[in-house]
Amino acid sequence: MVKVDKNKCIGCGKCVQICPKVFKMGNDGKSAVKKNTKAECIKDAIDSCPVDAISE
Ligand code: SF4
Repeated sequence: MVKVDKNKCIGCGKCVQICPKVFKMGNDGKSAVKKNTKAECIKDAIDSCPVDAISE
C-alpha cells in the first residue's frame, strides 16, 4: 500500500510529476494518494522524494 506522510511532505510536486497515476496534489498543498495501485513509477517517486515521505 502506497502512503504519503503528510507531516514530511513539503509539496514539491515531484511525485505527482513522475507518477500522476498514483499521486495528486491535495487542497492542502501536499501530495496525496489518488489511486492505490501497483505501478512502476512508484519506485521512481519514492527515490525522487527529497524528504522520504513516500512509503510502499
Ligand atoms: S515528492 Fe515527496 S515532498 Fe514532493 S510532493 Fe511528493 S511526497 Fe511531497
